[in-house]
Amino acid sequence: AMLDGMTGIPNRRYLDEQLQLAMRNASRSKSALSLVMFDVDFFKKYNDLYGHIQGDYCLQDVARTLRGMQRRHGDLAARYGGEEFALLLPDTDLDNAHRIAQKVLDGVRTLAIPHQGNAGGVVTISAGVMSCVPRPEMRIEDLFAGADRALYRAKERGRDRVEDCQLPRPVTPSIKPDAAAGNLQ
Ligand code: GH3
Ligand code: MG
Ligand code: MG
Repeated sequence: AMLDGMTGIPNRRYLDEQLQLAMRNASRSKSALSLVMFDVDFFKKYNDLYGHIQGDYCLQDVARTLRGMQRRHGDLAARYGGEEFALLLPDTDLDNAHRIAQKVLDGVRTLAIPHQGNAGGVVTISAGVMSCVPRPEMRIEDLFAGADRALYRAKERGRDRVEDCQLPRPVTPSIKPDAAAGNLQ
């Protein structure tokens, strides 16, 4: 019941569970946690052009590519739903998660699955990366929302690309110590 029947990788229910555990661990150890959301580009057109069965094969290929990107214990590739996938990366900061996401995109493009409805003529995907050191009160929905926002931007900016979302950092003083000292005189 934890596996997606069509692609054979874990489903959303399992992802939710593991994400919750990973957030708790990361919050406790104050370590970075990343969540990447992927979405196939112009997949509706793909189905229209090649049929739903071929569409299913395409999703299976994407799932296989994503699964191949799991490197460390705790990494989790899952089908989020429809033509959307997720990659959970514990102990991984934004830069590294972005790099891994880009590798997934490169991997899918390299499959060279024909897609006449897409720029470049092959299937591509877009990604949104959310990275943070979770605070105890954070919920998994916050991570999904951040990754979703970044993914939306990736679509908007042309697809087949990775965009990032990072929580605002604590405000740092914009006045240099020297200048501040000068003001006191
Ligand atoms: P965008 O680049 O903005 O993501 O465009 P899109 O066409 O991919 O996005 P949209 O959400 O309009 O279409 C998603 C399509 O994915 C529509 C739906 O029929 C198809 N789809 C969802 N799940 C499956 C599935 O399990 N198998 C197949 N073959 N198609 C699916
Ligand atoms: Mg979609
Ligand atoms: Mg899509």
